[in-house]
Amino acid sequence: AKGAGRNTLRFFDPRTQANVTARTLLEAGLRDGLRDGQFLLYYQAQIHQQRGIVGAEALVRWQHPQRGLVSPAEFIPVAEASGLIVPLGVWILRTACLQLVEWARDPQTAHWTLAVNVSARQFRHSHFVDEVLGVLEETGANPHRLKLELTETLLLDDVEDTILRMDTLRALGLGFSLDDFGTGYSSLSYLKRLPLDQLKIDQSFVRDLLTDANDASIARTIVTLAHSLDLGVIAEGVETQEQRDMLASLGCHTWQGYLFGRPGPADALVQSVASATTW
Ligand code: C2E
Ligand code: CA
Ligand code: CA
Repeated sequence: AKGAGRNTLRFFDPRTQANVTARTLLEAGLRDGLRDGQFLLYYQAQIHQQRGIVGAEALVRWQHPQRGLVSPAEFIPVAEASGLIVPLGVWILRTACLQLVEWARDPQTAHWTLAVNVSARQFRHSHFVDEVLGVLEETGANPHRLKLELTETLLLDDVEDTILRMDTLRALGLGFSLDDFGTGYSSLSYLKRLPLDQLKIDQSFVRDLLTDANDASIARTIVTLAHSLDLGVIAEGVETQEQRDMLASLGCHTWQGYLFGRPGPADALVQSVASATTW
């Protein structure tokens, strides 16, 4: 009885209750937002040292009627926990593919790839592969221009299932980038087995690249690893010319970050091509 009393007390803890309420409200808001078209995709350029813009990463935003732009860091975890990430994820994929179709019409942008973040629950959903296939057919987007960004924890959660899904999508032409690389617990033997195209150096290693010797050696190790596994490598969170130069000297020649442009509407990205000629 005493134990039950404690549980009851804990259940009515006002802070917990407030959290539960906030979460429930956010969840309801997400559901309404999806119905009312409150989501949009921002795009951030991915730059190659010689080739200029080679593509972009799609980053979802929630235009809330009262709160304004809400960060995905706040609502993606709630969308994951509630399962809403599945319909939201389909919307993201469809919108990204429609953007690819638009870029394909312009010779200046036709070669761009688009990287789309996929979260664990979305990737594991029983219909995920079919949904990707459906969206590609429906939009007519070129699968060779579509890249999925997956995290280490997601990939290693069920390696056999992961490889099966990746191989099926790869056969359609899709590419895969390993997001936030270095922050998880990748086993190198698994890394070799996964059909990846690219490693993405996490921004936490780029931030103090010039002042922290550990970060510099981690970045160097990731570049070496990518090269030896015959994978591409991109650095995210590049904010300064010094970081860019340092990455280039370590052998990483593809970058993404505020130095080259903040995430924004697709138009802004296309306009930046005209203004920027050298990187
Ligand atoms: P992420 O995939 O690691 O995305 C990179 C984050 O770094 C983005 O934050 C981007 O705006 C930010 N960023 C870009 N350049 C710089 C820079 O130079 N300096 C710094 N400090 N930050 C930079 P954002 O857009 O707020 O997204 C946060 C996270 O939310 C993403 O991290 C990703 O995990 C998740 N997310 C965003 N869009 C989607 C989506 O469409 N689907 C899913 N499943 N998750 C998404
Ligand atoms: Ca990402
Ligand atoms: Ca990342």
